[in-house]
Amino acid sequence: MELYGLNRAELSSICDQLGQPAFRGKQIAEWLYRSGVRSFDCMTNLPAALRDKLNQTSTITRSEIVKRSESADKTAKYLLKMADGQTIESVLLPYPDRISVCVSTQIGCPVGCVFCATAMCGFVRNLSAGEIVDQVSALQQQAGRRVTHVVMMGMGEPLLNFDNVVKALHLLNDELGIGMRKMTVSTVGIAPAIDRLRDLDLQITLAVSLHTPDDDLRRRLIPIADKYPLVTLMQSCREYTQHTKRKITFEYLMLADVNDSQPQAMELAALLQHTLCNVNLIPFNEVEGLPYRRPNRAAIEAFRKVLEDNGIEVTQRMERGRPISAACGQLRRRQLSS
Ligand code: SAH
Ligand code: SF4
Repeated sequence: MELYGLNRAELSSICDQLGQPAFRGKQIAEWLYRSGVRSFDCMTNLPAALRDKLNQTSTITRSEIVKRSESADKTAKYLLKMADGQTIESVLLPYPDRISVCVSTQIGCPVGCVFCATAMCGFVRNLSAGEIVDQVSALQQQAGRRVTHVVMMGMGEPLLNFDNVVKALHLLNDELGIGMRKMTVSTVGIAPAIDRLRDLDLQITLAVSLHTPDDDLRRRLIPIADKYPLVTLMQSCREYTQHTKRKITFEYLMLADVNDSQPQAMELAALLQHTLCNVNLIPFNEVEGLPYRRPNRAAIEAFRKVLEDNGIEVTQRMERGRPISAACGQLRRRQLSS
C-alpha cells in the first residue's frame, strides 16, 4: 500500500491492522511529511518489527527532480518526474519574508484554454493527494526554508480533481503546518465545484480565472465556459463569498486586442459591482506557437484605472520568472518536444 498521501487517521488505522498502537500513525506521518524520509528504515523511533512489516507491505513514493531552471529574481522552476515516468512542473518563489510554491494538480489539463501551454499537451491524468503534497515538500527541501504559501496555479484544473485537491489542502495544513489562509486554489470556473468547496467552508483563497466579462468571448477562450455561463458562475461566486466571508480573486489574463479595451474594463467593473472581490491583472506570458500577445504597459494601466475608478480593488501579478517560462506548462512542453 502507498503511504505517502495518507493522513494521520488513515496511517493510524493501518498501524491498528498491523497490531500496533494508533500513536504510531502520528509518528509515521511526522516522518513522511515533516522529515521527508524516503525509507521506513529511517523511521528510527518505530520498533524494528514494525519497520520490517512496513517494508513488506507498504511503499513511500516520491518524485524525482529532473530539471531545474532559475531566473535572476531567484524564481526556480522544477520539472518533477512521477513514479510512472510522467513529468509535472512546480515553481518555488522566494521572497524576503515568505516563500511560496506553485503546484500542479493534474498532468496536462482537459479544459483546453486557447492561450495555455498546458492545454497544448492534452490531458494525461489527475495527481494524487500525495503527489500534490510531494511537490511542496520537495521544493521546501530544495529551499532549505519553511514554505509559507501554496498556490494551486500550476498545470491542471484543481476543481476537476476535487477530492485529491481537498485532501492535499488538509495534509499541507495538518502535516506541513501551512495555514489554510495562505493557500490559494485557482479555478477556471467550474461552478458546481465552487458550490461544493463553499460547503466545506475552508479558509483558503479562491481565485477564479474570469479573463473577460463577455460570454461569447469567454467560450472562445475557455471551451468549458460553454457549460458554465457567467450568470451561473457569478451566482456561485457570490454565494461562495457570502458563505465563507472570504474575498474571491478574479484573475484577468490580459491579451492584446482581445480583452484589454476600456469598454471591456467598464463591463468587467459592472459585472463585479456587488461581489466581495479583487481583480488580479495577469499580463500574458507569450507561448511559442500561439498567436496571442501581451498588451503594452499603457493599455494595462488604462484598464486598471477604469476598474479602480469604479471601486474595484486591483492587484497585478508580480512578473516573476519570465525568462524561465514561468507560465504553466511551458517547461514540460519544451521537454516533451526536445
Ligand atoms: N486551471 C486553473 C489553474 C492553473 S492556470 C485556472 O485556469 O485557473 C493558472 C493561471 O495561469 C490561470 O489564471 C491561467 O489563465 C493563467 N495562464 C495560463 N496561461 C498563461 C500564460 N501563457 N500567461 C499568463 N498566464 C497564464
Ligand atoms: Fe487548464 Fe487552467 Fe490551462 Fe485552462 S488555463 S487549460 S484550465 S491549466
